[in-house]
Amino acid sequence: MFVLVVNAGSSSLKYQLFDMDRSEMLAKGLCERIGTDGLFSHQVPSKGVEIKKIAAPMPTHADAVSLLVKYLTDPVYGCIREMSEISAVGHRIVHGGPWLIDSVRIDGPDGKVLSDLRKCVDLAPLHTKAHLQGIEGCMQVMPDVPQVLVMDTAFHQTMPKKAYFYPLPYEICEKYAIRRYGFHGTSHRYVSGKALELLGNPNAKIVTCHLGNGSSISAVNAGKCVDTSMGFTPLDGVIMGSRCGGIDPAIVPFLMEKEHIPVSEMGDWMNKKCGFLGVSGVSSDLRDVGAAAEAGDERARLSLDILAYQIKKYVGAYAAAMNGLDAVVFTAGIGENNPDIRRESMADMEFLGIRIDPVRNADRSATRISADDSRVQVFVIPTNEELVIASDTLRISQQK
Ligand code: AMP
Repeated sequence: MFVLVVNAGSSSLKYQLFDMDRSEMLAKGLCERIGTDGLFSHQVPSKGVEIKKIAAPMPTHADAVSLLVKYLTDPVYGCIREMSEISAVGHRIVHGGPWLIDSVRIDGPDGKVLSDLRKCVDLAPLHTKAHLQGIEGCMQVMPDVPQVLVMDTAFHQTMPKKAYFYPLPYEICEKYAIRRYGFHGTSHRYVSGKALELLGNPNAKIVTCHLGNGSSISAVNAGKCVDTSMGFTPLDGVIMGSRCGGIDPAIVPFLMEKEHIPVSEMGDWMNKKCGFLGVSGVSSDLRDVGAAAEAGDERARLSLDILAYQIKKYVGAYAAAMNGLDAVVFTAGIGENNPDIRRESMADMEFLGIRIDPVRNADRSATRISADDSRVQVFVIPTNEELVIASDTLRISQQK
């Protein structure tokens, strides 16, 4: 059984093809600059095949899908014989709003599912419009293949109302579907599931820290999300590459007035000019910020301190929210690769039962990095969002 996972952006489309009998990724690639000059990259790791950024005109998302199918079925560059071998396509959807609350199969071009997705354009305009283009492209090229939507927001739907409701006028929240939604749901679901297996306890209380370019932290009690740091949009929570995370909301109108920033630019400003980039002035990439801090740059050091401190605060808050804590999980680019942030954020947490083993923390292959006498286990678990999307896609597409 082969499942294609698609992550469509406004001018790009990432894909991975999975062999679901082995839960193995067979091929992956990226169509870039759709609508302009078109660049195509493709890889079949098991064959040692790799194509890097070749010029390939693709005026529309449908052209990009045709191109990737051509390469997937190519005798030299591909890994399947024909398109009909693809059992289903899974689409990564950033925002499902209150309408799309679990992975779901598309019921035709004029069905309820796509109509619900169109309602999400208001909540995440750029992402949702791009997803719709990707879906339409796939439906055009593969009209007989089931298409499934897998939402980043779905895992967080189990949050209690006190965790997701903002203290704004009730009618306003209802009118505009304003609430905490949470993001990176497939990642939090995947790593918390792995942690439950490692702990051998399906009722464990876990804090999952997905720390990448975008970062979010979730409280997961017995496999169900009970709180998460991102909110109505992926801007809330901890400091990120170039996103500010949670700030006093009064700063926003204050700055708009003082700096003459129009409404149309303020969102972009908070998403692209803040975070590590804004604080350090060095980069949005934590590797560069870490190197600058090593060299004595104080603002770079401050960015790292803010991140570690905010992680610590979320872990403490979520332990309180769950009335206990069995494990903390680190994942994504920073969580998996940055032992300094793990060490600093988990330092001085013995009162909570957390103690990191410095040797294990420095060992890139270690899964458990807590000390033997640490009551709370601390894990590093590589995330695999695409595999979660592929698994859901197969399950949903096989339902009668
Ligand atoms: P992601 O969004 O998950 O790709 O994560 C991107 C962030 O992870 C960036 O801030 C990178 O600095 C950091 N990162 C990714 N790979 C590494 C690595 N091998 N070592 C240290 N940091 C890394």
